[in-house]
Amino acid sequence: MTEPGVPEFRAFPLILAAPSGAGKTTIARKLRERRTDVVFSVSATTRPPRHFERHGRDYWFLSEAEFRERIGAGELAEWAEVHGHLYGTPMENVRRAAEQRQILLLDIDVQGARQIRATVPGVVSVFILPPSGRELAGRLTSRGSEGEDVRRRRLINACREIAAAPEFDYVVVNDDLERAVVHVDAILRAESARGAHMVGLAEYATRLCRDIESCLI
Ligand code: ADP
Ligand code: 5GP
Repeated sequence: MTEPGVPEFRAFPLILAAPSGAGKTTIARKLRERRTDVVFSVSATTRPPRHFERHGRDYWFLSEAEFRERIGAGELAEWAEVHGHLYGTPMENVRRAAEQRQILLLDIDVQGARQIRATVPGVVSVFILPPSGRELAGRLTSRGSEGEDVRRRRLINACREIAAAPEFDYVVVNDDLERAVVHVDAILRAESARGAHMVGLAEYATRLCRDIESCLI
C-alpha cells in the first residue's frame, strides 16, 4: 500500500514594506538568490526610470493615461500615489504566482499593503525598519538615485510610513544586511509550515488516522 502524500504548502504573497532607503529592494534581491520559490512582483509606475532600471524587469514604466486605463480595466490588484507618482500591482502577478505555486514578493508601500491584505487571502507582511534616522538619510544619499528635492520628500514621507509598522505581521530591523535577509528567510520558513498555508492538511490527517487504526487491528 502506498503511503499518503504529505501535505504541501500553498504559496502565499509576501509584502515587504519600508520607508524609502531602508533596504527592502536589496533584501528582496538577496532573498531571491537564496530561494528559488520566490518571484518578484513587477509593479507598474508613472515614475520616470532610474538610469539602471529596465522596463519590464524593475517596473512597467507607464504614462499616467496608460496607468489610469489599467485602473479602469480592473487590471491592478492595488494602487496608490507614493512620493508624487502612481504605483500599482498588476493582478496578473498575483494570479500567475498562485498558479505556479511561487511566493510573490511585493515591494509596495503601506497604502498598497492595506489594500492587498483586504483582498488577497493568506498574505504575510513584513515591515523593514532602518536602524536610525541618520542611517536612513545616509542610505538615501549614498544610493544617489534621486535629486535633493526627491530625497527630502522621501524622508518627510518616511515618518508616515514608519507609523504604520505595527500593522504588519513582522518587523525586521535592517542594520546588518545579511542578518536581515536571514530573518526574512526564517519568516518565510515558519510561514510555509503554518497549518493555514497547507494544501490538503485535513485530508492528510484523516488518511493518517485510518492508517493508525489499521495498525490496531
Ligand atoms: P529601498 O528599496 O528600501 O528604497 P534600497 O534597497 O535601494 O532601499 O537600499 C538603499 C541603499 O542602502 C542602497 O544603496 C543599499 O545598497 C543600501 N543598504 C541596504 N541595506 C543596507 C545595510 N544593511 N547596510 C548598509 N547599507 C544598506
Ligand atoms: P521607488 O520609486 O523607490 O522604486 O518606490 C517608491 C515606493 O513605492 C516604495 O515604498 C515602494 O515600495 C512603493 N511601490 C513600488 N511598487 C508599488 C506598487 O505596486 N504599489 C504600491 N502601493 N507601492 C509601490
